[in-house]
Amino acid sequence: MSGTTRAIRVHAHGGPERLRLEDVPLPPPGRGEVRVRHTAIGVNFIDTYHRSGLYPLPLPAVLGSEAAGVIEALGEGVHELAVGARVGYCSAGPGAYATRRNVSASKLVPLPDHVSDELAAASMLKGMTVEFLVQRCFRVTEGMTVLWHAAAGGVGLLACQWLSAMGVTVIGTVSTDDKAALAKAHGCAHPIVTTREDFVLRVKELAPGKLPVVYDSVGKDTVHRSLDCLAPRGLLVSFGNASGKPEPLELLTLGQKGSLYVTRPSLMTYVASREELVASATTLFDAIGRGWVRPEVRHRYALADAAEAHRALEARETTGSIVLVP
Ligand code: NDP
Repeated sequence: MSGTTRAIRVHAHGGPERLRLEDVPLPPPGRGEVRVRHTAIGVNFIDTYHRSGLYPLPLPAVLGSEAAGVIEALGEGVHELAVGARVGYCSAGPGAYATRRNVSASKLVPLPDHVSDELAAASMLKGMTVEFLVQRCFRVTEGMTVLWHAAAGGVGLLACQWLSAMGVTVIGTVSTDDKAALAKAHGCAHPIVTTREDFVLRVKELAPGKLPVVYDSVGKDTVHRSLDCLAPRGLLVSFGNASGKPEPLELLTLGQKGSLYVTRPSLMTYVASREELVASATTLFDAIGRGWVRPEVRHRYALADAAEAHRALEARETTGSIVLVP
């Protein structure tokens, strides 16, 4: 049962050129583990942080946080899953950029018939992020207006669809007119093209009383100005660093700008227990079943070309979800 897996590993943090396709030893699944043969692997911005060292990993490391596939073997003590079952995961830690992998059974979610392996890999991490951000981190409700940065990205397009289906008005930032049209087609009522429009001024025009919540995954370039889009007692959700790590925030600023709140959440904290993980995945799969969220793979790369996927993602050339084909 032991053997090797073909995997994308980094031996040192750095740019996409650090990614190497290698044969890596794969032991039999341990107690509580399952071996999964991957059929589709999700690419997420966090993979670039793991690669660059912004979120350092013990090295050498296989990258990748999300995949779907078929169970090949069960370790000791695993009774609730069966060989041949289709599963997906997005909270098992790095190691998904591989043809096969051992994963803790507690992190696997069975995939329903209406969610293909590829759509699971395109939507679990991103869609469950939208779920926890709009339902649990802050409860967005019908009639609200929110600001979502990077509205044409992987998380962004799913957020636009989900929020518009909830009756929420989405103001979204994007860098090009093509991305604005795409975000609009996915439910973003007011795309703002940041390369020629000031998003703070535009938000003040669109929502003079300003907003109850801003979702900011761009980080360094936007976080401090995002505070200026909030109504008094509003919440800034800083959940990513696509443009780099945000500069430190002076707490007094929150008082001066109107008793604001800030949170820096991570999906892993919100799906830490088995109950939360299953509930979040179930909510996403239900939203897909109802047609509120319609994930699509907008970019496909061979596993061997993962470096090219990273380059394109960081160069802002991609929209929506990216999947690696093992
Ligand atoms: P995206 O597909 O959204 O790609 C990132 C987007 O950010 C780009 O397309 C680009 O859109 C925008 N961007 C703005 N400035 C830059 C820059 N300097 N360099 C690169 N991109 C920039 O990625 P994902 O959907 O995978 O992730 C979106 C964000 O959400 C990431 O920041 C990620 O870390 C975060 N995230 C956080 C989670 C959490 O638990 N906290 C979970 C999942 C994702 P444009 O060109 O239109 O500006």
